[in-house]
Amino acid sequence: MPECLFCKIAKGEIPAAIVYDSKDVMAFLDIKPANPGHVLVIPKAHYQVLPQVPDELNAVLMQVIKIIAHAQIEAVGAQGVSVVQRNGTVAGQVVPHVYFHVIPRFKDDKVVDTWETVDMSEDQLKEIQARLIEHAKAIASGTEVKHVPKLQEPSSAPKEPVKKEKPLKVKPRHG
Ligand SMILES: [Zn+2]
Repeated sequence: MPECLFCKIAKGEIPAAIVYDSKDVMAFLDIKPANPGHVLVIPKAHYQVLPQVPDELNAVLMQVIKIIAHAQIEAVGAQGVSVVQRNGTVAGQVVPHVYFHVIPRFKDDKVVDTWETVDMSEDQLKEIQARLIEHAKAIASGTEVKHVPKLQEPSSAPKEPVKKEKPLKVKPRHG
């Protein structure tokens, strides 16, 4: 992946304001921070989306995220911390290499991490619950690895439909 920005940062080929550097994980300042002290945490190895990351590495990533969140509270007086992780262009992923935003939060800051809710009936909730349970069990037991991951490359059009099952139709809530 010679073109990947975060691989280049991980290898030291592109400079970054590094705040944490271990064998498998690196954390550095976001050059377009939402707040002072906004950090990106990445695995050094190239994985495009979260479902590809091995469990052991995910555990290390979460340890580093915890350290950075704590450091932000101490270093910039963060009153809270938001952790944001996006997979796929529709989710706002802009670099095709797994990354976590760790954002210090302050009262009345301009960070927007909220959303409008959708209306779902009891039946729809039950249906989606059943589907998620079925797939989570299969994935956790290792019998459903072949579907991981079919998310599109950021900045390119989808080559094939991702969904095996029809998405549930939900009405956006107005007002
Ligand atoms: Zn990469």
